[in-house]
Amino acid sequence: MADRANEEHEEFLEYYDEMTIHYLYSVGELTKFFKEIRDNGKLFGTRCTKCGFGYFPPRLNCHKCYVPCEWVELSGKGEVIAGTICRFGVSNFTDKLPITIAFIKMDEMDMAIRHTILMSEDECKLENLKRGTRVKVQFKPKEQREGRITDFYFVLDK
Ligand SMILES: [Zn+2]
Repeated sequence: MADRANEEHEEFLEYYDEMTIHYLYSVGELTKFFKEIRDNGKLFGTRCTKCGFGYFPPRLNCHKCYVPCEWVELSGKGEVIAGTICRFGVSNFTDKLPITIAFIKMDEMDMAIRHTILMSEDECKLENLKRGTRVKVQFKPKEQREGRITDFYFVLDK
């Protein structure tokens, strides 16, 4: 609780409270991306039908050409563009700290995604986050997948 005075020195009572909001979020035409993750453990990006630029995470239209993109199944392999080690994490990974957050460019794509690389304690070193470090996707077990971006993560591809 905090007291704060306005310009006339009148005091207003203020206190902290919590607000819970339930909502339905639609992923719209990106449904294929999330369903493939959830149902089949596959990653898809998109590629511009005009210039060939590869988007991962996928985009439905090329931001350069404004034409539709087509779906492309990915190998699940890529490389680190940049990364850091986090000693505090988001709720999905707090049982696995420390974790690494990195920009990862998939082999077939031109854009990078910011995601998690789970490493063992021995692996969790900045030298394993150098640009070009090879990584591969890992999916949570099927019964745990919900069709969300957190249904997968990356590990070092040794
Ligand atoms: Zn394009």
